[in-house]
Amino acid sequence: MTVRTGIGWDSHRFTPGRRLVLGGVEIAHDEGLAGHSDADVLTHAVIDAVLGAASLGDIGQHFPDTDERFRDADSLVLLDAALERVRAAGFAVEHVDTTILLERPKVGPHRDAIRASLAGRLGLAPEAVNVKATTGEGMGFVGRGEGAGALAVATLVRR
Ligand code: MG
Repeated sequence: MTVRTGIGWDSHRFTPGRRLVLGGVEIAHDEGLAGHSDADVLTHAVIDAVLGAASLGDIGQHFPDTDERFRDADSLVLLDAALERVRAAGFAVEHVDTTILLERPKVGPHRDAIRASLAGRLGLAPEAVNVKATTGEGMGFVGRGEGAGALAVATLVRR
């Protein structure tokens, strides 16, 4: 059995008139994240983590932001497509750990929904997906509320 790990990092800027979507869950807020797709920063980090573990490059190579097909795309659909390529390479996702970097709104009330959403798409039990969140303590782009970031680590196996 071969075990591989991959890391993913993403960030998006807050802007008025956009939705805030984290792990496929829309969260009520007075602004949302800017981006070519739905700007689901957490799902983008997860996509990069699973692609990374399978040595399949990054999200920008698979789903370029110059491609009109991906304008306002549901990032969970991009995750589905990434997982198809990961499975075609012989890998199965075993576990995903994530951290959301966000000053506000609070992630806590939405944590279980985000976990269930990602686990469903990854074909994992909720116990195999972890969602953590932290603020920037007022520092940097996260702390100033200019944007949100997300980190993910994926563990894949090939039997
Ligand atoms: Mg992104």
